[in-house]
Amino acid sequence: MAVPQHRTSKTRKRMRRTHFKLEAPGLVKCPQCGEFKLSHRVCPNCGSYKGRTVVNK
Ligand SMILES: [Zn+2]
Repeated sequence: MAVPQHRTSKTRKRMRRTHFKLEAPGLVKCPQCGEFKLSHRVCPNCGSYKGRTVVNK
């Protein structure tokens, strides 16, 4: 098993973790009903995608 040769310092650990951040998911407003939905997904509220209904509700 590989073992690290040197202990990672607090600073190095923290510098690496500066890139671990929360990012909001791609929320966009549905052009059909105005509800927030995930981009590139069928709207869960009205079932539309690319301006037409693909899922009947
Ligand atoms: Zn919608």
